[in-house]
Amino acid sequence: MKSFDYIIVGAGIAGLSVAAELAQRGPVLVIEREAHPGFHATGRSAALYAETYGPPVIRALTIASRASMRRRRRGFRKPRC
Ligand SMILES: Cc1cc2nc3c(=O)[nH]c(=O)nc-3n(C[C@H](O)[C@H](O)[C@H](O)COP(=O)(O)OP(=O)(O)OC[C@H]3O[C@@H](n4cnc5c(N)ncnc54)[C@H](O)[C@@H]3O)c2cc1C
Repeated sequence: MKSFDYIIVGAGIAGLSVAAELAQRGPVLVIEREAHPGFHATGRSAALYAETYGPPVIRALTIASRASMRRRRRGFRKPRC
């Protein structure tokens, strides 16, 4: 039986982002109740980066994610327009 160091519940952008970070430290299992990832809010997002959107905690999280969003990682590609 395979073992994991981390278990993430929910394969939206939040869960998958945490999973991607933790995967650098050890095996991660992501559990999703729907048939595929990004089924709920993530699948509806317009995917705009807006530092002025939402209440203070959301704005702080958005700003804190800027460096990570700009960092290019293996396996991630710039979206095609
Ligand atoms: C119409 C719309 C447009 C948007 N546009 C933008 C935008 O332009 N820019 C922006 O920054 N944000 C935008 N947002 C907000 C953004 O989409 C959300 O903040 C973000 O997707 C939330 O991600 P999440 O992973 O927290 O939640 P979700 O995407 O909802 O993921 C949570 C996941 O957890 C799963 N889950 C929950 N409980 C369990 C359980 N017990 N067991 C297993 N799985 C479980 C759910 O099935 C779901 O897949 C928009 C939102 C909407 C609705």
